Amino acid sequence: MTLSICTPLLESLPLGQLNDTRVWLKMEALQPSGSFKIRGIGYACEQHFSRGARRFISSSGGNAGLAVAYAGRRLGVPVIVVVPETTPERGRHLLQCEGAEVIVHGKMWSEANELALSLLTGEDAFLHPFDDPLLWEGHASMIDEVVAAGVRPDAVVLSVGGGGLLAGVDEGLRRNGLADVPIYAAETEGMASYAAALDAGGPTEVPVLTGVATSLGACQVCLRAFRLASERTVVPVQVTDGEAVNACLTFLDDNRVLIEPACGAALALLYGKKIPADSHKNFLVIVCGGSTATIDSLKGFTG
Ligand SMILES: *Cc1c(COP(=O)(O)O)cnc(C)c1O
Repeated sequence: MTLSICTPLLESLPLGQLNDTRVWLKMEALQPSGSFKIRGIGYACEQHFSRGARRFISSSGGNAGLAVAYAGRRLGVPVIVVVPETTPERGRHLLQCEGAEVIVHGKMWSEANELALSLLTGEDAFLHPFDDPLLWEGHASMIDEVVAAGVRPDAVVLSVGGGGLLAGVDEGLRRNGLADVPIYAAETEGMASYAAALDAGGPTEVPVLTGVATSLGACQVCLRAFRLASERTVVPVQVTDGEAVNACLTFLDDNRVLIEPACGAALALLYGKKIPADSHKNFLVIVCGGSTATIDSLKGFTG
């Protein structure tokens, strides 16, 4: 069984014409859990299940937790998600809809995570949202699908939070002979933990994260995401919250699909023409998706 689906690969004529190039959208927003996360987390959950795990535990109130909850429901495995009090009601509700048990604990994520870890018994698997080679291997399948569809991109645009998506896309490009393709890694200014790592020469903790792109809110990126920047071309680019939200709204008009600002950050590189024209002929944008945004929350943003 594979828990993620093969998503559509669509050409965006508006983005192509705006940037005088071809732009391909890998529509991970259409995954059953609402984001790309089910690729890696679904793969990891299947591996843990086949090795005997009989309960899944997560401390993510966002798309990673949702992917664990979806995987658990499909595999018939109970799921516990421990979230801090700051987790919005919508996030808790979506988790409960998937049948997960939601435990609210602590003011900060670190407290929720500590409780989650303390629950672990020998029959449990803990699913990290981004720092796990199993996740990267699962995420890599999205690139296999792009290549199988006959598209060989000469540049990839994606969002970076903790760096799991970046590590997975890197792995997928490598195993398809695309190790030389540059990756443009977008984050919002308030969530710039990847830029901080590159500046500091290693993953470093960003004490205060701010803004609307909450799914990019990892204080520190994983070591793998940092290291691969010295193995291939990775160009970090920052956008404002306003640019990310506007990209979501324009994308909604263009493609009739609602995405989070975390995903809008990547699209903003092309909607905002932030990558020099003529530099590439075939852009691939990972439309990573996300379930936490609503139309009202996007329209209500006043940056
Ligand atoms: C998790 C997530 C990201 C960031 O992925 P990382 O693997 O943490 O870099 C971006 N967008 C959405 C919608 C996400 O859920």
